[in-house]
Amino acid sequence: SVTGDVLLAVDGLSKHFGGVKAVDDVSLEIAPGRICSLIGPNGSGKSTLINVLSGLYGATRGSISLLGQDITRRRPDERVRLGLARTFQNIRLFKGLSVLENVMTGQHCRTSSGLFRALLHPASRREEAATRKRALRELEFVGLPDVAAAPAGSLAYGRQRLVEIARALASDPTLLLLDEPAAGLNPHETEALDRTLRQIVGRGITVLLVEHDMNLVMGVSDHITVLNFGRKISAGTPEQVQADPGVIEAYLGT
Ligand code: ADP
Ligand code: MG
Repeated sequence: SVTGDVLLAVDGLSKHFGGVKAVDDVSLEIAPGRICSLIGPNGSGKSTLINVLSGLYGATRGSISLLGQDITRRRPDERVRLGLARTFQNIRLFKGLSVLENVMTGQHCRTSSGLFRALLHPASRREEAATRKRALRELEFVGLPDVAAAPAGSLAYGRQRLVEIARALASDPTLLLLDEPAAGLNPHETEALDRTLRQIVGRGITVLLVEHDMNLVMGVSDHITVLNFGRKISAGTPEQVQADPGVIEAYLGT
């Protein structure tokens, strides 16, 4: 594909923890407007790849570029400002803050002042009102307008996951990285998540989805990359990777 069709380009990316090659020489490209998924058995390096893409971990080798700009050495907050947002496999909410306040922190991450300055130097009333309004809009988008005032920690697990997605959306991302958003969701909630993912793409946001729920993955993905022991072992459409003997073997081997 031509460069203009590539939102995220990952080239020869590795992340080693001592002797563990958690991510090992992975290259991939993500086209805008798609849902791309990353699958693979437990411990295959999916979360590590997300963590390197978001800047939580530095890359051992290789490069990452977003819209043609090399972001390999950028800080996580700089990447958020450039349009990269994420959720975590293990939910990271401020449990004592309200749901709305949690979503509002997504926007503070995006502003130049950053989260800590935002906490130390409260925004003007007008800024605060705009931030609040946007956060409420994202809560409505994920189907949680009624719990804005509740402490985030009081919500059921599945709803906390939706709050994380709302918070990531509040940072106005170009590319949204989701690490196992369906983990711990019941079938009804997973169906709702399926619809939400499609609506996210409908807003022009590209999604990189790490997910174990194969029904969800095979149903929503335009493209799938398969990892095993940190290496890319297959890539293609859902039909292509499902028919790949190497992929079947990787899953049966665990
Ligand atoms: P997945 O998300 O596909 O289940 P992970 O990326 O969490 O896999 O883990 C890939 C490998 O890297 C595993 O062997 C895991 O133990 C190791 N690993 C992940 N994070 C760390 C870390 N912070 N320190 C050391 N090893 C890690
Ligand atoms: Mg993981």
